[in-house]
Amino acid sequence: MLEVYREMLPVMQARGGAYAGTDIPEFYALVQELFTPEQAELNNRLPKGPFMAEALAQELGRDPEEVRGILEAMADRGLCTTFMVKGQRHYMAARFMPGIFEFQFMPGRVGERDKKIARLIWDYKQACRALAAPAPLTFPVTRVITVDRYVPAGNVIHTYDQMASYIEKYDTIGVGTCYCRHAAALRGEDTHGMPMQVCMWFGPTAEFAIERLGGRHLTKAEARAVLDQAEEAGLVHMSRNTSQDIDFVCNCDRWHCEVITGVLKHPQPARLFNSGFMPVFDAEACLACGTCVDRCPPQALSLGEEGPPALDLERCFGCAACATGCPEEAIRMQAKEGYPAPPKDSRELGAALKASRQQAAG
Ligand code: SF4
Ligand code: SF4
Repeated sequence: MLEVYREMLPVMQARGGAYAGTDIPEFYALVQELFTPEQAELNNRLPKGPFMAEALAQELGRDPEEVRGILEAMADRGLCTTFMVKGQRHYMAARFMPGIFEFQFMPGRVGERDKKIARLIWDYKQACRALAAPAPLTFPVTRVITVDRYVPAGNVIHTYDQMASYIEKYDTIGVGTCYCRHAAALRGEDTHGMPMQVCMWFGPTAEFAIERLGGRHLTKAEARAVLDQAEEAGLVHMSRNTSQDIDFVCNCDRWHCEVITGVLKHPQPARLFNSGFMPVFDAEACLACGTCVDRCPPQALSLGEEGPPALDLERCFGCAACATGCPEEAIRMQAKEGYPAPPKDSRELGAALKASRQQAAG
């Protein structure tokens, strides 16, 4: 193996995120497939934060056109990001996750190399998980977004919980292939008939996804239709646990979503992942048909001798998949008392996460 791939280990570790870099054979098998030696060498020299190709070339004493060409090829393969600032093209190094791993599957390619990458990423993640110590309960990084129209008038709904507000806020909205389900399909697994074109991005992230990752531009009406399709399928709306700098909304299932499959391993998934809402049942309207029980991703509902279903609040993460599927409209979503509002931005989220990690460490 070339030395340049060994040198990637500390580089990817320093970038942080999930699966940042573990010194195991699966890491090297993966990076040798993802990066050409030329790309790996440049990847290892990328600075922190946004940069321009000319500035990097100057710093490295290399030809600007050659450096730009490598960066362009990397951006086209989702190995770095790129965006325009005041008419000038900038690039930025990418983490494994969120980042490179998702970018491999957003374009929805189905070639032999894509299948190989799906297998290598899966093997690497599995190997990392097998080595990792059980994660302590910390402040949630992601948040479930409940479905507004099942919240009766009179409740105070935080703007974070209003999906429509994101659609109205951003001029550029993009949609693309769900990377979790597409990666599963490439590995030959059942995707349970769930829709694929439902990963949504907003603002500059959407511009990158549309320009480089096969994303499709959506009008506001089309974006609302994507959300309707996701709700009908019983998918869970999810984004970063912040109220202001939202740049994506995933529509996730229980079988393949990285986050949901992770939290479902915990006996009390609602502590890790929540919208701050819970279902309330109209006992008179409920016919005990069991539809909501089947649609509930964390299996928080159970039917007894007669309806309505019993709710396990330690499992319910407030997604409203039960409410959107109830044929009798017998379910409304209600705010959970005392559930914390989301942090304002990534800085506040980082501080909350750090504080909870310190608390967990004692
Ligand atoms: S889906 Fe509606 S009617 Fe059926 S059991 Fe659930 S609450 Fe009752
Ligand atoms: S009961 Fe299940 S489907 Fe309903 S909100 Fe809770 S987690 Fe979602």
